[in-house]
Amino acid sequence: MALKVLILGSGSALPTISTNQTSQVIECGNQLYLVDCGEGTQIQLRKNKVKIQNINHIFISHLHGDHFFGLVGLLSTMHLLGRKNELNIYAPKGLDEIVKIQFRNAGSYLSFEMHFHTIEQSGEILLEDSKLTVKSLPLKHRIPCYGFLFEEKEGLRKIKISALAEYKIPTYARKSITEGKDFERPEGEVIPNRLLTNDPPKPTKYAFCSDTAYYEKLIPLLKDVDLLYHEATFIESERKRAIKTFHPTAADAANIAKKSEVKKLLLGHFSNRYKHKDGFLQEARPIFKETDVAVEGKEYLV
Ligand SMILES: [Zn+2]
Ligand SMILES: [Zn+2]
Repeated sequence: MALKVLILGSGSALPTISTNQTSQVIECGNQLYLVDCGEGTQIQLRKNKVKIQNINHIFISHLHGDHFFGLVGLLSTMHLLGRKNELNIYAPKGLDEIVKIQFRNAGSYLSFEMHFHTIEQSGEILLEDSKLTVKSLPLKHRIPCYGFLFEEKEGLRKIKISALAEYKIPTYARKSITEGKDFERPEGEVIPNRLLTNDPPKPTKYAFCSDTAYYEKLIPLLKDVDLLYHEATFIESERKRAIKTFHPTAADAANIAKKSEVKKLLLGHFSNRYKHKDGFLQEARPIFKETDVAVEGKEYLV
């Protein structure tokens, strides 16, 4: 099993008719995790046929509007569709107040429970379930802002087809063998697990880093990451604006990818001044070859 990342929005502050604000869905097993929720996210979820009631965890990087203005609308839709499952929302301080005040003043009461988890610092384990761990990453922005590291857990071992017949493994014993235990035959002979199973696929890692200035503190934390989504609002001709607004250029993102030795880099959070994305690739690829630009509606296998 691998993580999948569906890009819903790849633009920065100003949405256009062809570009949406930041949002993406991470899929692991049959679980869906939403990262950021810019304006229009629920429309993008529908267009991309994502089952919104299957989202039980939402991670918000920071409280600039282009990363959460779609949240109240999405919560309202979940309510109108009769949601009963509880929903966990992870965000820097203040989001719960913003959301609750909107519903309170509208006299609306949601059909489901919301649990807000305040992200206090980087390196925190925000969520751990049977399939993965999600940790906060430090980012350097104008207000408190966090990235997210999704680390898949090692899956179950795979029983060799040949071993099933050779050792006559009964059905009741298979679960414990996939968990790594040896098999004890009824007559007492113990068959070591290594003869019975193959290694599971290597667990994968995905890192989401938006919004941030060039920030070398990320480098050791991105070790072994398979896919890094790093924002690149600008190209070098807007270097001054990039520094002033705490955003990186494509070359900055590529340097982070290169120094942290991730496998692949996906650029996003583009300023709407760029109609084409060629300039981003022209600057990033000479530094880090395995770079692509995020395409909305496209799913990336980590
Ligand atoms: Zn932004
Ligand atoms: Zn921002």
